[in-house]
Amino acid sequence: MNVNQSVPPVPSFGQPQPVYPGYHQSSYGGQSGSTAPTIPYGAYNGPVPGYQQTPPQGMSRAPPSSGAPPASTAQAPCGQAAYGQFGQGDVQNGPSSTVQMQRLPGSQPFGSPLAPVGNQPAVLQPYGPPPTSAQVTAQLSGMQISGAVAPAPPSSGLGYGPPTSLASASGSFPNSGLYGSYPQGQAPPLSQAQGHPGIQTPQRSAPSQASGFTPPASGGPRLPSITGPLLPGQSFGGPSVSQPNHVSSPPPQALPPGTQMTGPLGPLPPMHSPQQPGYQPQQNGSFGPTRGPQPNYGSPYPAAPTFGSQSGPQPLPPKRLDPDAIPSPIQVIEDDRNNRGTEPFVTGVRGQVPPLVTTNFLVKDQGNASPRYIRCTSYNIPCTSDMAKQAQVPLAAVIKPLARLPPEEASPYVVDHGESGPLRCNRCKAYMCPFMQFIEGGRRFQCCFCSCINDVPPQYFQHLDHTGKRVDAYDRPELSLGSYEFLATVDYCKNSKFPSPPAFIFMIDVSYNAIRTGLVRLLCEELKSLLDFLPREGGAEESAIRVGFVTYNKVLHFYNVKSSLAQPQMMVVSDVADMFVPLLDGFLVNVNESRAVITSLLDQIPEMFADTRETETVFVPVIQAGMEALKAAECAGKLFLFHTSLPIAEAPGKLKNRDDRKLINTDKEKTLFQPQTGAYQTLAKECVAQGCCVDLFLFPNQYVDVATLSVVPQLTGGSVYKYACFQVENDQERFLSDLRRDVQKVVGFDAVMRVRTSTGIRAVDFFGAFYMSNTTDVELAGLDGDKTVTVEFKHDDRLNEESGALLQCALLYTSCAGQRRLRIHNLALNCCTQLADLYRNCETDTLINYMAKFAYRGVLNSPVKAVRDTLITQCAQILACYRKNCASPSSAGQLILPECMKLLPVYLNCVLKSDVLQPGAEITTDDRAYVRQLVTSMDVAETNVFFYPRLLPLTKSPIESTTEPPAVRASEERLSNGDMYLLENGLNLFLWVGASVQQGVVQSLFSVSSFSQITSGLSVLPVLDNPLSKKVRGLIDSLRAQRSRYMKLIVVKQEDKLEMLFKHFLVEDKSLSGGASYVDFLCHMHKEIRQLLS
Ligand SMILES: [Zn+2]
Repeated sequence: MNVNQSVPPVPSFGQPQPVYPGYHQSSYGGQSGSTAPTIPYGAYNGPVPGYQQTPPQGMSRAPPSSGAPPASTAQAPCGQAAYGQFGQGDVQNGPSSTVQMQRLPGSQPFGSPLAPVGNQPAVLQPYGPPPTSAQVTAQLSGMQISGAVAPAPPSSGLGYGPPTSLASASGSFPNSGLYGSYPQGQAPPLSQAQGHPGIQTPQRSAPSQASGFTPPASGGPRLPSITGPLLPGQSFGGPSVSQPNHVSSPPPQALPPGTQMTGPLGPLPPMHSPQQPGYQPQQNGSFGPTRGPQPNYGSPYPAAPTFGSQSGPQPLPPKRLDPDAIPSPIQVIEDDRNNRGTEPFVTGVRGQVPPLVTTNFLVKDQGNASPRYIRCTSYNIPCTSDMAKQAQVPLAAVIKPLARLPPEEASPYVVDHGESGPLRCNRCKAYMCPFMQFIEGGRRFQCCFCSCINDVPPQYFQHLDHTGKRVDAYDRPELSLGSYEFLATVDYCKNSKFPSPPAFIFMIDVSYNAIRTGLVRLLCEELKSLLDFLPREGGAEESAIRVGFVTYNKVLHFYNVKSSLAQPQMMVVSDVADMFVPLLDGFLVNVNESRAVITSLLDQIPEMFADTRETETVFVPVIQAGMEALKAAECAGKLFLFHTSLPIAEAPGKLKNRDDRKLINTDKEKTLFQPQTGAYQTLAKECVAQGCCVDLFLFPNQYVDVATLSVVPQLTGGSVYKYACFQVENDQERFLSDLRRDVQKVVGFDAVMRVRTSTGIRAVDFFGAFYMSNTTDVELAGLDGDKTVTVEFKHDDRLNEESGALLQCALLYTSCAGQRRLRIHNLALNCCTQLADLYRNCETDTLINYMAKFAYRGVLNSPVKAVRDTLITQCAQILACYRKNCASPSSAGQLILPECMKLLPVYLNCVLKSDVLQPGAEITTDDRAYVRQLVTSMDVAETNVFFYPRLLPLTKSPIESTTEPPAVRASEERLSNGDMYLLENGLNLFLWVGASVQQGVVQSLFSVSSFSQITSGLSVLPVLDNPLSKKVRGLIDSLRAQRSRYMKLIVVKQEDKLEMLFKHFLVEDKSLSGGASYVDFLCHMHKEIRQLLS
């Protein structure tokens, strides 16, 4: 692979920008844009005119290579203040005791062995008044909307193709990364060959709680209480044009009271209250056309009636809710694109809801942080905690501090406040921002967060204009923009020393499996060229990052690649129980200086281990070694670990195979997500203290215990990649693409993030890949432009409509050139005394991001079913509160959804039936742990497409059209067998081919003459010189470019057994694992809401 051939034109970042004297532009935003994945080397390839802006001044204050503090370190007073931000003691990483690290015994547990990964206890709190929620939960437990206690659905008669167990056992799915079953018979000669547990036919526990329904205490008429899955057959009226959110109940239907629900679950609780008023005709809209039961929605309970059983003498033939009449994600996305995609989003107005993440728009920073950095669940916060509790809408912000920007948008400016450091409030330590109020002619300012009056230092003094605004407000980013950076002084540095540039250490598993698959050879070959593209500061000619190399199996091999050597030297450390770094000089080197030695080493590694029979590996000692090396070099950095197997060799962190699918749907299921030993958390804590971020590339052939191995990446802000059953020929493109992007990523090292809020609310909970040693500081050994931190807020006082609420996120980090900086993001929100204002300013995509992360953390401590029930209850409470307080009076039979939340039910259902919360038989334990870990740091755009995949028809739009075809809803019903579709969710990419696709189309795309000749599972389309082929391949490239991980293509033919894998992503349909269809779930949600309101 000649990387130099793929150098694309580099976009110019020299867009018109206001000229701010005295500071220069950060190098960050100028780096690769969101199109990075297909431009592997563009971002850092020079020369780039846009990057060459030599900072006019300020840079010399902190030379990247300088490890010594400047002469001004005696500036004590401000320094003391600065420390205060991050708590007492050590600035960056918590208590000083963790910095003066003494080697801990590898086996020393950190917390209990089964402690959750996160620092925060995950408490599943039932929302709302206990009686109500308890009641709902009790009913839900009998209802099984989510099928938690149901046995696997019948494998036939549902139109779903081959039965689950058959397809699963075949093990012949192409390796999609996420859902690859492990083929058998790949075990190395000497290893413990074990069939992968994922191949077993799932054994579900017997239904245990099916009879949990308790009749409500009240004697009045009750809603029918139905146990058993939600059923189709209910006919709802379609929404009227004028009220798109009103989904009405069907006309009165006569159903016998207590209609028998004879399903496979056996006896069901009796129906209640035959005299139920039931559904009323919609008062203001016509009923949508009803459809008969369709295969996709086919119920396993043939005799089942509709949900809202009505009084009346005669049962009517079941009707069903018209899928076209319920809120459509596609329509909402389209509408937002049409309405908001044309004008830039200007951030000057407080409390504005930004366009959806699925809309392309530009942002103009006029005082609030761009939605690319911060998105909120609501931009209008209830004034009181009582209101907030009533509404149950979580108040949360999804923050992506180092988000990459499109080339058209300016990256944050870097402000230099000189030796005294950034100007801050003396009391709360908030940083100077556009919301600070200058008073007394400019001599003092009142803090917008805590109201403290502060003196303006003489060097910062400026006169005010007649409106009370500083006359230099528009010349200073910190007075006029939502996002900017400060150069940090030495007071913000560990040990009061400016940091050294970071280092990258490549740690390569050279055990039998890694060699056999061709991984080691591929990787070494790639590194030779990839090392030229390490991240670097804007104007720098070469990266400041030093590199080091380690290989390992049961022992570790360190390499001296000092430039003066003719050949690299290897040093073996076999005492893995007491890891040390055998060399300092020559281990971490400059790539250009040591190029010849490094190239020689990378040439030799595959040969040296070519004949290895060693199958066992260690893991913890490898990370320990990398961390010790960084410590010895007194720098932060990143470890790139390439690992193949469960670490069973005798060493700290040794693991055993504890995969057990029988635990699914039991109270012990949570243990599958928990690390099996505390050694990993202990190690992670040490890594965080050193600023050592770990990225893990896994190449497993069988269970490797992702839940445990991902602990260190998770707590150090790193990434995990997983390539099950890796084979060079099939997977090299995906792996190399991910690797290139990962190595080139701009990373902030040794970072601490603090979110400050104005009086009345405060940050109470945090979700993401980081470590916390106290309740306020988010510690990140590394943070890249893809990672988000979700923060939840709670009231601690009354808010004021007039002053609103403010957030300030401050991220202290070391840049890739070793410069210490602070990145500040400010956001002002409105506050309301009317619930309707809250519901008008919500963002469902962000809400789902929060709820998914909340649930995915919850499974560490609670049964999965309880987590699902909590989500359902909360969603019902949110919607019931709206109905009760905000909607105009209407019949109880109407389901009324707030405009901003009309997709909440469909999206929530997708979360509920996701692999973590409701696994299908083909999902391995490692897959679930992997996805759980990924979602934790996803941004809103990623969770949006991950939970509700995009399905794009390929032949409907004109062949010459260059835009993406409009998506269709993710349901089998929307597939035409004469068309082809691309489906993507950010991790997976399918091309589904209908059985009746025209022969010419087949020929144009696959170069075969008929449908039957298309190879099922194909992952590369032939490169053909015709418009259709070019268009489809171009579209695939474009989809890949939008995502942070490479999506491998899988071609699926209609009626082929692979189709089951594909149908897993048709999330509006009932899923094989028991997840409800959208229609059914909406009916269920309606019922929940009515129960809450009655
Ligand atoms: Zn303050």
